[in-house]
Parts: sequence; structure tokens; C-alpha cells
Amino acid sequence: RKLGIALVGLGNYSRGQLAPALQETKLCKLSGIVTGSPEKIPEWKRKYNIADKNVYNYGNFENIKGNDDIDIIYIVLPNGMHAEYTIRAAQTGKHVICEKPMATSVEDCQRMIDACNKAGVKLSIGYRLHFEPHNLEMMRLGQNEVYGNVEKIIAEDGFRIGKGGWRLDKELAGGGPLTDVGIYCIQGAIYTKGEMPVSVTAQYHEVKNKEKFDEVEQGLDWQMQFKDGTVADCKTSYAENLNLLRAETDTNEWFELSPAYSYSGIEGETSKGDLDFKQVNQQALQMDDFADCIINNKKTPLPGEMGLRDVYIIYAIYEAADTGKRVSIDQNKKMLDWR
Ligand code: NAD
Repeated sequence: RKLGIALVGLGNYSRGQLAPALQETKLCKLSGIVTGSPEKIPEWKRKYNIADKNVYNYGNFENIKGNDDIDIIYIVLPNGMHAEYTIRAAQTGKHVICEKPMATSVEDCQRMIDACNKAGVKLSIGYRLHFEPHNLEMMRLGQNEVYGNVEKIIAEDGFRIGKGGWRLDKELAGGGPLTDVGIYCIQGAIYTKGEMPVSVTAQYHEVKNKEKFDEVEQGLDWQMQFKDGTVADCKTSYAENLNLLRAETDTNEWFELSPAYSYSGIEGETSKGDLDFKQVNQQALQMDDFADCIINNKKTPLPGEMGLRDVYIIYAIYEAADTGKRVSIDQNKKMLDWR
């Protein structure tokens, strides 16, 4: 039997990526929905053949407890709601996947981990790029020093935001582009170098549209320093299109992806030739891997601890930008169980 997944929040990511990916998964399938928008229900039921008894709203969502059609609850709500819904999901006794960023504070991340541990359920964060072959190759080349020791990283991710909605609301988003897409640069630098940074420095971009960016930053440059002196120069923005992960080594070799973080069309090049890997359905592989971890009682490679690590670094970067000071990174927060 395939494990059943219930998506919580039927916005763009659920509709455009996760539900279609769940048509390609081998170990799990879409069996339930949780939504606050009743008008969305008929189309989802029709398109994905969802039974009436597997349709919930935010009020009766706890009734998933005891529903044998649902094994995994996937939280795809605005960032500021992740903690509350992950904790409520854990209390139903179902396993949980939570979208990135895990939450809008380190304390919330810890509460989520604790709730899942207490309930005896697994928790994973939706870091799809850990299943993308070009990104896996960046990890291999960097961590194994295939082209020498990585001594410089450039990581940039941004897009021109339209209306923005909750993404421009500090309470619901937890921050601006850093929390939304800059998080991929933090991930990319760490999995390419294979280490935690020891400190961060950061500078906000000048805000052009003060009305739009009155709560969250428009963009940010930041630097992550590693213990051997390697620096990752990073940039994120809601005002320009950016999509790059590049590493340079002490033997003057380089390897890079651009675009690096997209759902498809990722391209890679190195000083020794192209990186040519097949395009995959990242979300399908990610969800199947979590289902496999449940079925075979294995640890997920993308646990809450990794989500907490990244949220911790995000808020260290904001502190560095706010104070203009270098902020050191607590090495006890390391969660390096990448692959
Ligand atoms: P979205 O705005 O398209 O969808 C959000 C959903 O939450 C909507 O269905 C909305 O109705 C619902 N919602 C419930 N309460 C809400 C409230 N108070 N305010 C606003 N919306 C509310 O957003 P999205 O792009 O689908 O993002 C959802 C989550 O998925 C975010 O955490 C985001 O970071 C994450 N995400 C991850 C990826 C990825 O590649 N892993 C890509 C996109 C989004």
C-alpha cells in the first residue's frame, strides 16, 4: 500500500508542484486535503479523486487522527503558520513534512521537533534540492575535494516579486527574500563546503520601493566565513532575478550551477567540462524518500534539526545586518547529515 499524504494549504506550491508530483510517486500518494477555502474543494476532489472523508478544514483538522487513509501530513502554509500546524499535525499521530523555512524562530523550530519526538512521529523539511542530481554533484565535488579544496563560494537566489501577499508580511513570512529563497544559498554553501560557517556578516540592499518593502527587506548581501578562511559571498533579493551556486578551489578549478535552485532546467558547468545530469521530479523523489524512511524505519536525511540550523543562521544574518557586526555561529547547531 502507498502511504497517504494530506496537503495542508492548497496554494501555489501545493497546486503547481506537490499535487502533480504525487501523481509520480511510488511509495506515497495524495489522499487528503486540508483547506480554509471551501471553493477549492470540488476541483481538487475531481482532479485527484479525493474522498469526502479525507477533506478537512483548519478547524476539524485534528480529526485526521484515526483516519487510516492518511499517514503523512504536509504543511504548505505561510511560514509563520508552520509551527502551529506542524505541532497540531504531530498530535494526530501522523508523520509530518513541513515546508521551508521550517519556522519563523529557532524557538518554534525546537517546539516542533519536541512535539514530533513526543508523539513518536518523524519530521522532515521540504528541501527538494537534496534529491536533484546537479546539486548532489555539487555536494560530492565540494565535500570530497574532487577539484581541490573549496576556498570561495558564490550563492545567489532572488526573483522579482509581484504583489507578494503574505511574503511581504513580517508576521506571516518571518522575513523577506532571505527566509524565502536566500535559504537555498545558505543550504548550497553549507552542502558544497561540507561544513558549518563560523560567522556571518551582512548588509541590507537599498530599498527602492519603500511602500512595498515596509516590513521585510528588499534584498541582502551576506558573507559566511568558514574555519579554514573560505568565504561564501551570498545575495538574495525580491527585486532581481538571481540563481547561482558556484565554488572555486585552491587549484584554480571551479564548478557551478545556474540556474541552481529551480524546479527543473538546472544546468551545471565546471572548469573541466559540463555537468550533465538528468532532470528529475525533485518533489516526487523527496516525498518518496520520506515514505521510504517511514516504511523502513530509517532516519530522514532532512530532519527538523536541519531546518532549525538554517532558521538559526537566517536570524544570525539578520542580526549581522541590523548591527553591522560579525555574528558568530554556534557550532552546536550543526546538523550536517547531508548526502
Ligand atoms: P501561497 O500563498 O501560494 O499558498 C499559501 C496557502 O496558505 C494558500 O492556499 C492560502 O489560502 C493558505 N493560507 C492559510 N492561511 C493563510 C493566511 N493567513 N495568509 C495567507 N495564506 C493563508 O504560498 P506558497 O508559495 O504555496 O508557499 C507555501 C509554503 O510553501 C511556504 O512556506 C513556502 O516557503 C513554501 N514553498 C516552498 C517551495 C519549495 O520549492 N520547497 C516553493 C514554494 C513555496
